[in-house]
Amino acid sequence: MPQTLSLDPLIAKLREIHHIRDAAALLSWDQETHMPAGSGQARAEQLATLQTLAHDTFVSADITSLLAQWIDLDTGTPLSSQKSLPHHQQALLRETWQDFRKARKLPSAFVTRLERECSLAQQVWTQARQQNNFKAFLPNLRSIVALKLEETQYLGYTDSPYDALLDTYEPDVTVAQIRPLFATLRERLVALLGDILNSPTIPDASILSQSFDTTKQLTFGKMILDAMGYDFDRGRLDLSAHPFTTSFHPTDVRITTRVFERDLPSCLFSCLHEGGHGLYEQGLNAEQYGTPLGETISLGIHESQSRLWENCVGRSKAFWKHFFPILQNIFPEQLTSVSLDAFYAAINHVTPSLIRVEADELTYNLHVMLRFEIELELIEGRIQVKELPSLWNEKMNEYLGIIPDNDADGVLQDVHWSLGAFGYFPTYTLGNLYAAMLFEQASKDIQDLPRSIATGQLLSLKTWLNQNIHQYGRQFPADGLVHTITKTHLTPEPFLNYLTSKMKALYA
Ligand code: ZN
Repeated sequence: MPQTLSLDPLIAKLREIHHIRDAAALLSWDQETHMPAGSGQARAEQLATLQTLAHDTFVSADITSLLAQWIDLDTGTPLSSQKSLPHHQQALLRETWQDFRKARKLPSAFVTRLERECSLAQQVWTQARQQNNFKAFLPNLRSIVALKLEETQYLGYTDSPYDALLDTYEPDVTVAQIRPLFATLRERLVALLGDILNSPTIPDASILSQSFDTTKQLTFGKMILDAMGYDFDRGRLDLSAHPFTTSFHPTDVRITTRVFERDLPSCLFSCLHEGGHGLYEQGLNAEQYGTPLGETISLGIHESQSRLWENCVGRSKAFWKHFFPILQNIFPEQLTSVSLDAFYAAINHVTPSLIRVEADELTYNLHVMLRFEIELELIEGRIQVKELPSLWNEKMNEYLGIIPDNDADGVLQDVHWSLGAFGYFPTYTLGNLYAAMLFEQASKDIQDLPRSIATGQLLSLKTWLNQNIHQYGRQFPADGLVHTITKTHLTPEPFLNYLTSKMKALYA
C-alpha cells in the first residue's frame, strides 16, 4: 500500500524557522524598550545572524524537498498529492510556496547586509531625529535605498520596481491600483478639508493639552485595553519612543505606548491603536503557529484592525458616552466642566499638522499620499536621497498648506525608511479603507452595536473580528476575505461616507 503523505514534517520545519524569527523579534522588541544605547553594534550583528539563519533554513534542501512533494516549485501549481487535502491545508502550501519563491530570490549575503544596515540605520536615525540633523542620517539612508533597489532586482517586477517592495507588505497590490485609488481619495478629502476649514465651528482642542498625570493616563489606557478584550495574561504594555506591536506567539503579544503629561490623545489613542493590532495577533489560531495559517494576512489588514479600534470605535460618540464619565472621574479638575460634546469635538478636531501619527482621521491620508509619491520617485530613480528634505517640504505645502521649520518634524519623523520599509506607507491608507468597510459590516451583523459600545461592552465586536478575520490567518488573500465578509472589493466609499457624515455633524 502506498504511504500517505503527511504535512507534519514540513510544519515542524516551518515552526523551527519561526522560533528563530521570534527570537529575533524579541531582540528587536528589547532594542526599542530596554536595550542600553551602547550595545547597538552588537545587537545589529545578533539580529543579522538570526535573520540570515532563518532565511537560510527556509530555502534549505530540507524545505525544498518537503515542499516539492506537494507543489511545483517553479510555477506554484499544486501536485496531485494535494487533492486529498482540505482547503486550509492547500492554502498553507500555497502561502508557504509564495514565501519560499520570494525568499529563494534573495542571496543569503544580501539578507545579512540588509539586516545589519537596517538595525544600525535605525539607531543613527533615532539620534539624527533628536538632533534634527538629516545630514547625519544621509549616508545610512543612501545605503538603505541602494540595498532596496538591489532587492527589487532580485525580486523582479513588471511595471515598477516599487511593486516588488509593496508586494512584501501587501501581496497582489500594485502602483497601478494605488494611483487611481489615491487620486479619488485625495480629491474628495481635499474638498472636505476645504469645507471644514471654512466652517465657523472650531472645536477647542486645548482641553486635551492640560496637565494630565501620566501614571493615571496609563491606568486608563490599560482599562480600555481590558474592555477591548486584550488579554494581559498573553501580552504586556510597555513604553517606547514609537508605539508598536510585536508578537512571538499568540500567547505572547506585546504592545507599547508613549505618554506625555500635556498630550492626552497620544497615550489614549496609541493604546486603542496598538490594542487593535494586538487583538489580531492574539486572535490567531495558536495550533497553526509557525505556518502561514497562524500569520496575519497583510499590513493593510493589520492596520484595518488598529484603525477600526482607534477611529471607528475610539473616536465615536457612543464609545465616550460610557468612557468619558470614567475619564472625568480620573481627571476631575481638568474635565468636570467639559461636556461630552466638547470632548468629542476636540478628539475629532481636523487641522493640517506636521506629524503623521498625530494627524486627524482626514489629513492622515494626505500624509500617507505624500510619502507614497516621494518613495515612488526615489525607487523609480527620478530623485536622489539628498533631495528628500526639500521635496518633503514642497509636498507638505502643496497637500496641507504648511511647511515644517525643521527636518525632525519633517522628513526625519518616521522610522520606516531607516528600517528599509519602503512600500509600507500605502498600507496605512488601505487600512483606513478596510477598517471602514469592516466596521460598516460589523454594524449590520452585530445587533445593537452602537448601544453595546455606548455601555462599554466591546467584546461582541472583538468576537466578530476573531471569527471573521483573525482565526483564518492567511487562508484567504486580503481582498478575497474582505469580499467574503462585505460582498464588496476594496473601495474608498464606506470610508468617505463615514468621514463625511461625521464631519458634517461636527462642523455643521
Ligand atoms: Zn498601526
